[in-house]
Amino acid sequence: HAKRLEGVDKNIWVEFTQLAAEYKVVNLGQGFPDFSPPSFIREAFCNALNGGASMHQYTRAFGHPPLVKILAKFFGRIVGREIDPMEDILVTVGAYQALFCTFQALINEGDEVIIVEPFFDCYQPMVMMGRGTPVYIPLKPRKSTGPGLSSADWVLCSEELASKISPRTKAIVINTPNNPLGKVFQRDELQMIADLCIKHDIICISDEVYEWLTYDGEKHIKIASLPGMWERTVTIGSAGKTFSATGWKVGWAMGPGHIMKHLKTVHQNSVYHTATAAQEAVAMGFQKEYDTFGTEESYFKQLPAMLHAKRLRLAECLRSVGLEPIMPQGGYFMITDISGLKVDLNDPSTKGEPYDFRIVKWLIKEKGLATIPVSGFYSQEHSGDFQKYIRFCFVKEDSTLKAAEDILKQWR
Ligand code: PMP
Ligand code: GLN
Repeated sequence: HAKRLEGVDKNIWVEFTQLAAEYKVVNLGQGFPDFSPPSFIREAFCNALNGGASMHQYTRAFGHPPLVKILAKFFGRIVGREIDPMEDILVTVGAYQALFCTFQALINEGDEVIIVEPFFDCYQPMVMMGRGTPVYIPLKPRKSTGPGLSSADWVLCSEELASKISPRTKAIVINTPNNPLGKVFQRDELQMIADLCIKHDIICISDEVYEWLTYDGEKHIKIASLPGMWERTVTIGSAGKTFSATGWKVGWAMGPGHIMKHLKTVHQNSVYHTATAAQEAVAMGFQKEYDTFGTEESYFKQLPAMLHAKRLRLAECLRSVGLEPIMPQGGYFMITDISGLKVDLNDPSTKGEPYDFRIVKWLIKEKGLATIPVSGFYSQEHSGDFQKYIRFCFVKEDSTLKAAEDILKQWR
């Protein structure tokens, strides 16, 4: 095998999705909705499939033209600048491949990439496969016990971030709203990161797949919209998260043409493009959202409103069994401290694994409830400090949340 595969062979999604499938669980683990996408986007997909022969054939490598055009128009209005659909956007196989193209395109052997913890797990192996060196900086909770915990309490120390920068620093990766914590970065935090990027000539990779999902009046801000940042930011998005259709695997990377052309090189030499009909449907979806933006008809308003209620429901349920949730400001997930759980962990097959991994496996096997261990979102150097949290996905039918509630209440 190739040397670059060493140390990147483990994957929490492969491991826990398989385990959840084996045990017939109530699944609040992997982040995907168990309800259907809205009817307008399903109809768009049907129309695409029936829309003629070309819908079933290859399209433009870097993105189906109707899709890149509407993405440019849509996001141009949001970032307040003209976006060139042909130069500045790359459509990918989910946000996952957008991330992969970004790291492959930008990192040279020995380059350092700063990753904010907790981080969506794939950043680390992707940096390593590019032969780069991940450098980690954890968000730190200003308070970690008691009622009223919020993801807003978890903050980045600007001096610490500055201290991580070296002459080899190539990029910094941020994720807002964050998976798994739900933190939504505030303008002053983004400005602090932007100032450092500009001062030290660093690229910002901003994973914004949950950009529409903010709660309690929180606002998602694109770091690419801050002065001087468009030119050095790659923004990642996902139609899967945007339209509740994660299985379609349509995503994109967006940024200045002089950076995007390198991502395109990786893309044309690996997957070439993602399914034409799915891209066509996503284009239709964005056209509809463009026309209804800011109104009650917009799915980007309806979805967070629906999830707001589910988030409160899950939080209530956790509190009722003595688990204090950290309220997420955005995203699909809620984490909670489980160190108060009295569980007799005598499963020899998980001996030696991190505490949260053992608890999650026990919950799956003994209680039929799937969640995800949070230390999987940390580097090895810091994961020891974060083994007392597990992550719940609340983007689920109310009946699924009720089933999870029943399991927790019966047992506690
Ligand atoms: N980034 C983050 C933060 C995610 O949570 C996910 C998982 N959906 C992805 C990227 C990958 O997205 P996609 O399903 O579009 O590949
Ligand atoms: N982003 C989703 C999650 O965090 C799914 C990740 C995946 O399937 N790789 O659960």
